[in-house]
Amino acid sequence: MVGLVVVSHSHALASAAVALASSMLHGQEVPIEVAAGLDESTLGTDAVAISSAVTAADQGDGVVVLMDLGSAVLSAEMALEMVDDAVRERAVLCPAPLVEGLVAAVVSAAGGAGRDEVAAEAAGALEAKESHLGAPARSAASAPAPAPVSPGGPAEPTRAVTITNRHGLHARPAARLVTTASRFDAHVEIRNRTTGSAWVRAGSLSRVATLGVLQGHEIELRASGPQARDAVDHLVELAARAFDEAGRPFGSDKDFATAAEERVPARGPGAEERVPAPGRGQAASAGVGIGPAWQPAVSRPHIPETTARSAEVEARRLDDAVAAVRRDIGEMRAAAADDEAAADIFGAHLLLLDDTELLSDVSARIQRGDSAPRAFRDAAERVAAEFGALPDSYLNARAADVRAVGDQVVRQLLGLTAEPLDGDGVLIAGDLTPAEAAGLDPRRVAGVLLAGGSPTAHAAIIGRARNIPMVVGAGRDVLGIAAGTTIALDGGSGEFAVAPDETVVGQFRDRAAVRDARRREAAGRAHEPAVTRAGVPILVAANVGSLTDAREAAANGADQAGLVRTEFLFLDRDEAPGVDEQVSVYGQIAEAMGGRRITLRTLDVGGDKPLRYAPGRPEQNPFLGVRGLRHSLENPALFGAQLDAIVRVARRTPVSVMFPMVTSADELIAARRMLGDRKPPDSLEVGIMVEVPAAALKVETFRPYVDFVSIGTNDLTQYTLAAERGNPAVPADGLDPAVLRLIDAVCRNAGVPVAICGELAADEAAVPLLTALGVRELSVAPAAVPLVKEAVRVSGTGSADWALGLPDASAVRRRLSG
Ligand code: PEP
Ligand code: MG
Repeated sequence: MVGLVVVSHSHALASAAVALASSMLHGQEVPIEVAAGLDESTLGTDAVAISSAVTAADQGDGVVVLMDLGSAVLSAEMALEMVDDAVRERAVLCPAPLVEGLVAAVVSAAGGAGRDEVAAEAAGALEAKESHLGAPARSAASAPAPAPVSPGGPAEPTRAVTITNRHGLHARPAARLVTTASRFDAHVEIRNRTTGSAWVRAGSLSRVATLGVLQGHEIELRASGPQARDAVDHLVELAARAFDEAGRPFGSDKDFATAAEERVPARGPGAEERVPAPGRGQAASAGVGIGPAWQPAVSRPHIPETTARSAEVEARRLDDAVAAVRRDIGEMRAAAADDEAAADIFGAHLLLLDDTELLSDVSARIQRGDSAPRAFRDAAERVAAEFGALPDSYLNARAADVRAVGDQVVRQLLGLTAEPLDGDGVLIAGDLTPAEAAGLDPRRVAGVLLAGGSPTAHAAIIGRARNIPMVVGAGRDVLGIAAGTTIALDGGSGEFAVAPDETVVGQFRDRAAVRDARRREAAGRAHEPAVTRAGVPILVAANVGSLTDAREAAANGADQAGLVRTEFLFLDRDEAPGVDEQVSVYGQIAEAMGGRRITLRTLDVGGDKPLRYAPGRPEQNPFLGVRGLRHSLENPALFGAQLDAIVRVARRTPVSVMFPMVTSADELIAARRMLGDRKPPDSLEVGIMVEVPAAALKVETFRPYVDFVSIGTNDLTQYTLAAERGNPAVPADGLDPAVLRLIDAVCRNAGVPVAICGELAADEAAVPLLTALGVRELSVAPAAVPLVKEAVRVSGTGSADWALGLPDASAVRRRLSG
């Protein structure tokens, strides 16, 4: 691809021009380098910096250099003398006006044009303005083009379409049209039929801009070449969809609604909205919720005036925070894969996080002594102010975008994600962090409807634990639902209805009634043991992530705590809990469980659960990185303190300890050695979580060192099916026969009792299969205990072999329900 270099006397001007041009790209990337100013605030140009920029922008297809005035041109000429001969031959200095030229050049380069074409596009970029203002063309080169003769054979019959965008073929839709036209192997032309304009090339932004297409104008499209028909059909469809700007009035703040921001301000009734039809997301937490919609309002995070630590520490904090926000936004973009417009927005947010100008400004501020949050906020504000000052309303709206992403990073840095969300009815949001889900009050929140999210993400796990009906992956349109609109949702099926009539509300209420009746029946027997029809006793234990969970687990008849996720004590704080605090909290959990055995899982951080005070190195794939036991072994002081606490609690109450994310016996041996040093009582049972396929396949190698194993099907499923658990674009079902075969192998070869503590254990339909495979403990969300016990009681005596040979999870589910 052709690279671009922006040479300007002013760093701020060049950065803003690049930001403006990049906003035309819809996530595509064009190599653009900036050589501007002597530093960020001193005006001037520097030939050495320009020569480096030219070399950096060169990918082998040539470089177009755009300059502002006077000495910029001289410096650029000098710079070309300094670069390698091959690079110089591929580079061209372009006389185009800087801003218009750059916008035309990026679009043309993104469309795959060659160097000369990109330069010509840039050079002709003033034509639109000239034709709009009625100015005479200055030269033959910039005169409106005569109707081109289509190469590649006769043009297809023309197709016409009326433009509905409020501002006509303004910058963004025009850029969309141009980049789309360039994707086809066709020579596409367009004209404004309403004004009777000449035909121009649709792959040229500057040409399209000369057409002066306004709302209501009719455009005509025609094409020649191998993909002519496809190209025209595609463009007509795109125009009919208002270039995907429908419902987002052009230039308004909503145009770039901060969808990656997990919260958008609630909109009052009567506001213009995109109300989705009755919809279906993914079932995440069973139960029916009916109530008025509410969305938490955005509040900008306050930055405390604390002194910065060393620049190195601040820079590391920043890297971690940016990586975490990038992950969050990436998930949202994946969730919005079917919604091109939303995906564009998330793509733009991701680009901001990669913006070298922004990031180098942040680094410079950190070097000057600012804290990471202060540096990010101020740098983002600077960029936002630049956008805000631009005369184009669409580009003004980018300021809100920059602020939203900036705030997201600042929040991440300050750990402000745990603010409780306060409201009554059905909470609508993009996604929830685990901490936010944990802060919901089930007495007030009738249900949760998430645009993104996933059933195996921790937010959904917490929703189940809180017994809050939840539908996730419902699509971005739900974010446009006005506050106060009635929502009915069924978290067991994933269905939801927006503003349902009485009949539909009645249907949801009926479902709730049936479910309540079943629950009441199950609750009546919740404290009795669960035994299969074959007479096999199955422990139904609870997964506990707080003291409240432990109390609820005991009240719901849990036989023990099969998984205490101790991370809840370590996350969202600035330093690790001390040994005494841990002893106290674990002790309270044991007490709340009425002295039943508690299984304390050692710290399982990394992946979607980063730890601020022991962040580790940035990782491309944190789920495949230093997680779980790997993290503990890398942080022996942290791990040792937790083992101290566990041993102390185990001296007075029945405790098991369980290590997460074990892959091989040497890790387990190292952990056991540290545990042994602390002289644990004999009553302390030791186990591992089997959540890595490798551990399942060689489970017998752990046998000498464990008293039990517990299968973490959430992670086991994601690792087996290569489907990230938080990513709704790749939904993964633990009933896939590949996962079942691993469970089968564990049950056959472990030589110790096998539990399951992943979400599959709470899937009532799966229970008979799991018990038939040989699982002897199911550890589930506290609220699920009574119904899972019921499912155990109806489990039969058959074998599970039938499921292992089926092709996929749906085939297994069909057989289970048939
Ligand atoms: C699992 O992976 O199945 C599990 C129970 O652990 P977590 O969900 O906490 O990763
Ligand atoms: Mg896990």
